[in-house]
Amino acid sequence: MKMKWKVLCFLAVLILDGFLCRTMYLSYRETKETLFIPADADGEVIDDIRKQFSGEKLVALTFDDGPHSTYTKELLDGLRERGVHATFFLLGENIEGKEDIVKQMQEDGHLIGNHGLTHILMSRENTNQAIIQIEENNKKIQDITGKRPEYLRPPFGYWNDELESTTHMTVVLWNVDTLDWKLQNSRKVVRNIVKQVEPGDIILLHDIFPTSVKAALEAIDTLQKQGYTFVTVEELLVD
Ligand SMILES: [Zn+2]
Repeated sequence: MKMKWKVLCFLAVLILDGFLCRTMYLSYRETKETLFIPADADGEVIDDIRKQFSGEKLVALTFDDGPHSTYTKELLDGLRERGVHATFFLLGENIEGKEDIVKQMQEDGHLIGNHGLTHILMSRENTNQAIIQIEENNKKIQDITGKRPEYLRPPFGYWNDELESTTHMTVVLWNVDTLDWKLQNSRKVVRNIVKQVEPGDIILLHDIFPTSVKAALEAIDTLQKQGYTFVTVEELLVD
């Protein structure tokens, strides 16, 4: 009799324990959902929050200083093979004679931004002069693509409030600096990307070096295997 009761009690505890655990888990899940979603959040905010929990690993590759007649072309082919979209901040003085490459960027779904007409430190220039240069480059790009660029990356990230309030462009800097221009070594650049990258990052590269193009494509192959999805800066910022 004692043995029988012991077994019964043991079973009852097991069942009760299982029930409590399940209740606690469900309430934890509910708390987790309601904790991060404000009651007055609109659809877009809710989508943003859901994405944070969905484990989506989005990352944006950005290429400055191009286009380059050989290396940008190689890069575009490699990105197309891998189904990857990137962002190109074009230097106006490099565009002439490479209009086909700019067109291919647009046709392939990449985002085209402005890196200035020449590689000047915009914040150290007279503001009006800097704006004139920015607009001249916008026009160069628009003449080819039919679309005025909305995004700007100032060379070296040099920018100031006066420029910010005068131009109607969205300035995009970066948070992963690959130092590709300095290293010019694809193995080291790949390592810099893979070591530093986290979801939501904007990676800085330059498509005027063969080592940078090789590194970008190798890093894509590695990171795609880790579940990363490559998007344009616009998709990253809007999403
Ligand atoms: Zn640059």
